[in-house]
Amino acid sequence: MNKAIVKLPLAIEEDVHNEFRMHTKLMLTELGKFQSKQDKDGSIRRTLQPISKTICSFLNTDGGRLFLGVNDDKIIKGITMSKNMLYHFFGSLRHMCEKFKPFSPISRIKVSILEVIPMDDKTKVKLKKVDMDKEEVTDFPKLANHSVGGFFCDCFKEINQAATKQYLFIVQVAAPDPNAATVIYQNEEGLAYRRRLASNKCVYLDDLRRMMHERNRLFVDLHDEVRHEIDRFIKFH
Ligand SMILES: [Zn+2]
Repeated sequence: MNKAIVKLPLAIEEDVHNEFRMHTKLMLTELGKFQSKQDKDGSIRRTLQPISKTICSFLNTDGGRLFLGVNDDKIIKGITMSKNMLYHFFGSLRHMCEKFKPFSPISRIKVSILEVIPMDDKTKVKLKKVDMDKEEVTDFPKLANHSVGGFFCDCFKEINQAATKQYLFIVQVAAPDPNAATVIYQNEEGLAYRRRLASNKCVYLDDLRRMMHERNRLFVDLHDEVRHEIDRFIKFH
């Protein structure tokens, strides 16, 4: 099945396993300075959060799905892109994964791309699966170089210059393997996150390591205990 008609709003809630975003900015460096606000007390607040935070949270908690192109009202709007920009996204994702520690989590991440086709009946939308391997290369000559991880790339100009469509990205992050040693991932900012309800909570690894060290135990072997400590830690902060 490469096509589907979906009823809107989506029957999915933002929760521990699901998140909606209306952008595809993976890393902090891809966000412009204007995407932050100064509060009355002078502190700077980001108005847009990089997706790497949520990917990190899903990796460290129980996996999940990120829907890029769905707004807060659970409506599939899609994100306007040229086909070259789709390639840019995959390049960016690989680049982001390489910045994760302790190693790239790419094998736990799967991305589906669906073209969003509006219907006369606004309570529905048509989705068509995009198979990147089967696309005609002549349709969209790949740029020799994408400037991934930065605020701007030449392909972004195509939004005004080339054919664009609306796309929904579903980024699936697999849950940790319960039989393998626990790995706590840090994103490109060197921060570890855990998913708590529909938000991402920062975990302070140094504190966790100290806690584990005091017990004179091996950090990676304490799957359940580590999780328990993390949960406890988050609750008290
Ligand atoms: Zn690009």
